[in-house]
Amino acid sequence: MVIGLDGRDLEAPSVCDFCSDPDPLWSYPCPDFPLFSFGMVGKSTITPGYSSVGPWLACAPCSFFIDAHMWNELREHAVRTYTGRYPGLVGTIAASMIKVSHYGFREAVADDVIKEPWEDT
Ligand SMILES: [Zn+2]
Repeated sequence: MVIGLDGRDLEAPSVCDFCSDPDPLWSYPCPDFPLFSFGMVGKSTITPGYSSVGPWLACAPCSFFIDAHMWNELREHAVRTYTGRYPGLVGTIAASMIKVSHYGFREAVADDVIKEPWEDT
């Protein structure tokens, strides 16, 4: 989930945090972490006001890729899903945004993170 400075959930209602699928099935416990600026993977600049708070939700395909540590496949799936769902979003921009956010998740969680079933309430 992405929370703004005002505490508002910027991604409500619940969707897959990796590809925006509207039917997440799994929840991955994740420490809170600041989201890096667009295009700043590996650098220390942080976008003010955006952070990842709480668990990350995943749909079935994304969960498969996460559990198998198939990070490139996860990113490619997410780019396909995003650009199909949001045609105005340029593929290269979507790919960069997804790469940055997925990188943050991978850095924040342990390799053996255990997922939990997710039910939207
Ligand atoms: Zn997904």
